[in-house]
Amino acid sequence: MSQKSHFDLIVIGAGPAGYVAAIRAALCGLNVACIDKWLDSDNNPVLGGTCLNVGCIPSKALLDTSQRFYDLQHHSDAHGIKAQSAQIDVHTMMERKNKIIQQLTSGISGLFKGNKVSPLFGTGQLLADKKVAFTPHNGKTETLTAEHIILATGSVPTQIPPLPIHDDLVVDSTGALAFDTVPKRMGVIGAGVIGLELGSVWKRLGAEVVVIEALPDFLPAMDKQIAKESLKILSGQGLDIRLGCKVTSSKIDGDTVVVVYENDGKEVSETFDRVVVAVGRRPYTHGVLADDCGVKTDECGFIIVDEYCATNVPHVYAVGDVVRGPMLAHKGSEEGIMVVERIVGKQPTLNYDCIPSIIYTHPEIAAVGKTEHELKSAGVPYKTGSFPFAASGRALAADDAHGLVKLIAHAETDRILGGHIVGPNAADLIQQVAIAIEFQGSAEDLTLMVFGHPTFSEAVHEAALALHNHAIHIINRKTK
Ligand code: FAD
Ligand code: NAD
Repeated sequence: MSQKSHFDLIVIGAGPAGYVAAIRAALCGLNVACIDKWLDSDNNPVLGGTCLNVGCIPSKALLDTSQRFYDLQHHSDAHGIKAQSAQIDVHTMMERKNKIIQQLTSGISGLFKGNKVSPLFGTGQLLADKKVAFTPHNGKTETLTAEHIILATGSVPTQIPPLPIHDDLVVDSTGALAFDTVPKRMGVIGAGVIGLELGSVWKRLGAEVVVIEALPDFLPAMDKQIAKESLKILSGQGLDIRLGCKVTSSKIDGDTVVVVYENDGKEVSETFDRVVVAVGRRPYTHGVLADDCGVKTDECGFIIVDEYCATNVPHVYAVGDVVRGPMLAHKGSEEGIMVVERIVGKQPTLNYDCIPSIIYTHPEIAAVGKTEHELKSAGVPYKTGSFPFAASGRALAADDAHGLVKLIAHAETDRILGGHIVGPNAADLIQQVAIAIEFQGSAEDLTLMVFGHPTFSEAVHEAALALHNHAIHIINRKTK
């Protein structure tokens, strides 16, 4: 038996949605348990979910290592640095990545301990009447009760029938974060976030990478100009991105995989020594909801919640990837915090229109708020202003001057409605736009602010100035 069996709050899932909710609840004075079943490769229980173990953090660790290697090989000459003979030791790279994971996951254990959150390692299942069945690893199931329950069970990779996962030849994102050698020729199915990030990692390390995308448009949810510029930059780096290609079949042939896809009515066949399937993720509720628990899911498997993440069953909430909305760690964390604060009587809301999304290619691609397309469809009058990094002194000094910042504001009120960036440090720059949107700021507000010089953020300032045709370091569309 675990020490206690009744809690103010039980959270099932210790990914960024669940563990953050658990810590916030403990900070609010609640008596909290957080159940998670994740086991690492040595079969030890670990906290942190997808994000820390096989998602955000390991992918960024590999992106950073591979970018350093790429820069040494391709961007050192002009600086007078002779480093072309650099070599990559994949084993050391992976050890570094694993160390970071270990440091961060044990950090969450420490935070749980410090905040008196009870971690329960094993499987949780929601029963009826605010009860949870908890089965410890190698243990007997016991029934716990709680005043409130949060389901934060996350998501898993989607698979496609014509190309099933096969040992380490056809892998999902988790497999692609753990290759022991650099593939010679790697196929990536899906030109989405994971395909572009992990495709970039292995391309920079020397693999020939072919990205096969079913849709005819590149990053269709992104601002069209930013998507076009991003495609140009990434293709220029050697990623072979093929759009409008539907995989129809595959065959394992010794140590290689033959992938057959259809493009423009023609059948094309390609041979790879590794294939990464990155065609999206689906909500994970396997075994989480007992038949009589009453919680409803939709046709795609997402737990149905309202705008405050409440399910149809009183006192049961769901947050993170397992509910509607973008599958992003920060979205899940903020949902967890919102739910807890509402439980303790506060009234926070989450502005789903202001959630930044970032693709960590180099340069990074980032967006927040509305696109031109969305505003056009909604009949909202808008204006745009953009600034290329090629005109930024900081970007040129850093030898990192691809891309642009584009801001969108309401044509009449001047209120900032969206920001779209491909360029150096876009991940951090986009947060400045998010703050402007959240504070209901105008383009003029941004123009009146003082930005440090020389900084990448001056490009945000100049894009705001460009919205008023007052940019200093580019020729404006019309000058008054
Ligand atoms: P998860 O992190 O999936 O956690 C769910 C937890 O629930 C798991 O620990 C699981 O063990 C546990 N669980 C499930 N069922 C049970 C059960 N019955 N009993 C007990 N425990 C259970 N997002 C970003 O914002 N930025 C990024 O840079 C980024 N990079 C990514 C890179 C990759 C390769 C991948 C795959 C994802 C990335 N994501 C990124 C997405 C991000 O990882 C997810 O949005 C985030 O982890 C979702 O958090 P969550 O807490 O909802 O679910
Ligand atoms: P995604 O939705 O970003 O991209 C999947 C891509 O695969 C799409 O372009 C889709 O059209 C394509 N596709 C679907 N079926 C296909 C098929 N049969 N053949 C070829 N292409 C096909 O999904 P993802 O890249 O797998 O990422 C999953 C989730 O993880 C995303 O929702 C994302 O939010 C999250 N994530 C976020 C980050 C980040 O924030 N930096 C990084 C990685 C993952």
